[in-house]
Amino acid sequence: MSSDDLDQHFTCTWCGATAALAPDGRRGHCPSCLRVRHAGCGGWAVPISVAVPRTGDWALVHRCADCGELSSSPVRSDDNQLLLVRLAVRPLAEPPFPLDAFSAFGAL
Ligand SMILES: [Zn+2]
Ligand SMILES: [Zn+2]
Repeated sequence: MSSDDLDQHFTCTWCGATAALAPDGRRGHCPSCLRVRHAGCGGWAVPISVAVPRTGDWALVHRCADCGELSSSPVRSDDNQLLLVRLAVRPLAEPPFPLDAFSAFGAL
């Protein structure tokens, strides 16, 4: 592998996946485990949800496991789609309240 190739790729030190850098040379998160190093403290930022800003492009929301700071980075086409969909449906799959509360509303 030439040094040129090294410039175009990075290896995730969390899961060991090798991924191509984005065309702009920056890579927000690992496309395999979707984690990202938090530049502020060096801890691992873990994806906690998917956001869809006005642009319509998906963005990953990360929270640093060490300092708790929130950040976001754009979802790329080669990101782990299974993990992305899991993140997107998690609020529906694990509601913070019992779903039968809705039927209780009907009874009021
Ligand atoms: Zn990774
Ligand atoms: Zn941090």
